[in-house]
Amino acid sequence: MRRARRANERLAYDHGSQDGCQPNSRDGCATKTSFFDSMRQNTDAKVQSMIREYSSANYSTRMQNCTRQARSLSCTFLFVSFAFLLTQVLSNATAPARSDRHIVVVVWDGMRPDFVSEKNTPALWKLAHEGVIFRNHHAVYPSATNVNGTALSTGVYPSHSGLIANHDYRPEIDRNHSIDVEIPAVVKKGDELSGGKYISFPTIAEAVRSAGGRTAIASAKTVGLLLDRNADLSPAKKCVTLFASKSLPRDALTSIVAALGSFPSGHLQQDAWTTKALTDLFWRDGVPEFSLLWLGEPDLTQHESAPGAQPALTAIKSADENLAAVLLALDRQGARETTDVFVVSDHGFSTIGRSVDLRKILNAAGFSAKTEFADEPKPGDIMLVGNGGTVLFYVQGHDAEITSRLVGFLQQTDFAGVIFTKGAMQGTFSLDQAKIDSPHAPDIVVAFRWSDSKNQFGIPGMIDADWQRGAGKGTHATLSRFDMHNTLIAAGPDFRHGEMDDSPSGNIDLAPTILRILEITPPQQMDGRILSEAMVNIDAQTSKPETKTVEATKEFPSGSWRQSLQISRVGETEYLDKGNGAFVPK
Ligand SMILES: [Zn+2]
Ligand SMILES: [Zn+2]
Repeated sequence: MRRARRANERLAYDHGSQDGCQPNSRDGCATKTSFFDSMRQNTDAKVQSMIREYSSANYSTRMQNCTRQARSLSCTFLFVSFAFLLTQVLSNATAPARSDRHIVVVVWDGMRPDFVSEKNTPALWKLAHEGVIFRNHHAVYPSATNVNGTALSTGVYPSHSGLIANHDYRPEIDRNHSIDVEIPAVVKKGDELSGGKYISFPTIAEAVRSAGGRTAIASAKTVGLLLDRNADLSPAKKCVTLFASKSLPRDALTSIVAALGSFPSGHLQQDAWTTKALTDLFWRDGVPEFSLLWLGEPDLTQHESAPGAQPALTAIKSADENLAAVLLALDRQGARETTDVFVVSDHGFSTIGRSVDLRKILNAAGFSAKTEFADEPKPGDIMLVGNGGTVLFYVQGHDAEITSRLVGFLQQTDFAGVIFTKGAMQGTFSLDQAKIDSPHAPDIVVAFRWSDSKNQFGIPGMIDADWQRGAGKGTHATLSRFDMHNTLIAAGPDFRHGEMDDSPSGNIDLAPTILRILEITPPQQMDGRILSEAMVNIDAQTSKPETKTVEATKEFPSGSWRQSLQISRVGETEYLDKGNGAFVPK
């Protein structure tokens, strides 16, 4: 293991440039240091004995589980009989799933890594001691929920999955309005228009089911539908997707509501309800090969308050209690020893320093900018689609003159951070550099500007953001390192014990890593990599990480625009670290 470090090595604390911690700040650096200190106290002997214990004790358990898991083969049958295109896509993943392993992914929506501490998250803290902390983990850009849910479930960049934003504009689906990419009517229409390729890559759940495994997706948020929109293709109905108050198969919800009551309205109650649906109902007949629990917290409360606010800390504690419930359920099932648990967040979080009303600003500058079209759009009209820390601009008719004038205008503002354009333009990056060059991509994408400044609770990471939330509230989706740097901790039989991995890793690495553990050949080449340097029983094949910064500039009579993007790379896999820009007047 070249990059992952043993927990009992002394670590120089050199992580400030990656996670935003300042050496003396109160926001998590102190707790991280004490975490490292406590991990250092683990002796080699203890680690070795844990490994020995694992090696001998688990074999018989795994063999017993083989027979129990064989029942799940029924999930394959109907899936193969589904839509022709989808079947074609998955036809390569025919090897049976490894039946002596379970994977449980627990997503804490919007969980910043610097809030992981013994005080805030005791269950996660303990789990981290037993596994690997990925200290240089990355969201994909835009650092938004549905984009990252899709990336972590497909293993590919947004450009390859086709899902590049939480809200975008697809005139073939809705001519006059932007769409929410995860709502059932949009997903259905998208699949109809694309022959089942609304998300053009199979998800982990689809690949596992195709290989004969059973799957369970329980999501307190609507993103769940994107993680497995074909769960109702299981004839035995043993595979399920629960997404907020809806389910696939549809009638699965009836028995859930009968057992747990209706989907509650409070954020914390929603997470507890969803956790219970997974552990008490979906796992009633045993733990499937692949389970995913998506908690809405701390994202929802951090939006309503801000990172570091007391309600946000309470929401983090609630997420931790749900993790503890999942671990307890695994223990009760006797499945803990054969289960790899991933705790991941979809993205980080920031605080809004300024809310930018782009429609007002652009119309005042002579553009025809709208957030919806009342009538048939005219050439040159600009559809603005806000995604919090990022805005998409769709120039009707792709008018080159207006696009160029708009980019020049944005480059001279005090809120633009990084500008990406479909066509090559001076002082911008290509959509390809952001990994968002899908066929439906907009003409211009702007990530808002950010800084290391602290919010009202002393938490660093301030951004400008779109018009949807006010200053002082929380949001994300920029290229700020506080949005792009997120949480990953993995523990279980396939991971090293009590270690930290400083190699760049990302949400796109989950799918290849999980399929490798389950011994399923990915149906197609993925963009992510197997996190082998943090694993056992595998040859670590990590290339030396490289980091580069690219820049783009443009001179104006009144000053100069400069934007930069820092990119890390391990082998063929690239991770966007951060990006920002500024106009410097003469
Ligand atoms: Zn999220
Ligand atoms: Zn959010």
